[in-house]
Amino acid sequence: MTGFPEVRVAYPAWVGDVVDWGRAYESPEDRMKLAIRLSRENVDRGTGGPFGAAVFERDGGRLVSVGMNLVVTHRNSTLHAEIVALMMAESRLGSYSLGAEGLPAHDVAASCDPCAMCLGALLWSGVSRVLCGAHREDAHILQFDEGPVFPESYRYLEKRGIEIQRGVLREEARAVLELYRDRDGVIYNG
Ligand SMILES: [Zn+2]
Repeated sequence: MTGFPEVRVAYPAWVGDVVDWGRAYESPEDRMKLAIRLSRENVDRGTGGPFGAAVFERDGGRLVSVGMNLVVTHRNSTLHAEIVALMMAESRLGSYSLGAEGLPAHDVAASCDPCAMCLGALLWSGVSRVLCGAHREDAHILQFDEGPVFPESYRYLEKRGIEIQRGVLREEARAVLELYRDRDGVIYNG
């Protein structure tokens, strides 16, 4: 079949300047701080929407991957921060499941409550915990829509063994959403 290019996902160049890959991110707040930093840099540097995420080894906090919203730059509606972080982590570890046998448990910090697509992706990714920063209501103010997410959606993930902690450093995370709004950033609905 001709006419279909490969789909390639790549980090913006600034990731190399702002992410410290060597240190341990011990606490949920430490991990969230990195997700928020990524969301802020993404806005500051004009590479995408105000959302960041990162994947860590749950015990010890080794950083495995980061993610930032790349929808507009990559012209790809699925490239939310969580998706980018999960894809990069799975690619780096050579496993489609971050919960595979022989791997340590992983968690994800997301600077905002995940949308419907990302909640699904988090379920399939095999992570054991999800840390969320800003609340969905904070994103609604900017007209970002999370899609069909219901209280049952969270309960469903929890029943499948995924711990969910919401509102971690919410105010710091929300401040980046407001920064984006003040700069009249593109709202691409997601
Ligand atoms: Zn999403």
